[in-house]
Amino acid sequence: MTDDRALIKSLIADVQDFPKPGVTFKDITPLLASPQGFKAAVDQLVASAPGEIDVVVGMEARGFIFAAPVAVALGAGFVPVRKPGKLPRPVYEEAFALEYGTETLTMHRDAIKPGARVMVVDDVLATGGTIGATAKLLRKLDVNLVHVAVVMELSFLNGHAALDETGIDSYSAIL
Ligand code: AMP
Repeated sequence: MTDDRALIKSLIADVQDFPKPGVTFKDITPLLASPQGFKAAVDQLVASAPGEIDVVVGMEARGFIFAAPVAVALGAGFVPVRKPGKLPRPVYEEAFALEYGTETLTMHRDAIKPGARVMVVDDVLATGGTIGATAKLLRKLDVNLVHVAVVMELSFLNGHAALDETGIDSYSAIL
């Protein structure tokens, strides 16, 4: 593991039984609070980009924190994926299953030009539901999703498998 990746790992805290019993929550707030750590995480995501990227997409809320600086560093635009009722103009919606109940994500219909090279950035890849729903939204916009990058992947939840099936290139700074 590189120094950067070891530093990132050391700054993500495991919080047991949050938000409910049995879940180990990966708390990225110590990483964000560290100037070296936050920069290392953004640098890792930026370095993983395969060639030119037109737009970086980030998901509400923690995805925004990483996707925006990655977009600036890559000279790309930033487009938010939001929870229902937040975006003011016509949206596409995509519902997906959570452990209990469902969640819906939305995106402005004209947010990205068809054919644009798009990268998706989030903090944690768990079951892959969030990134899977985002990929479906991007398909509706007819863009070219070329890469997914996350700071951390919970490999035991196998969210990677869903991405592998789609053939989309993906990267996790730490496992
Ligand atoms: P999933 O859709 O299951 O891949 O979950 C990914 C989203 O939920 C990410 O946007 C994370 O912010 C959040 N998330 C899921 N599980 C965890 C966890 N154990 N610790 C921290 N965040 C998580």
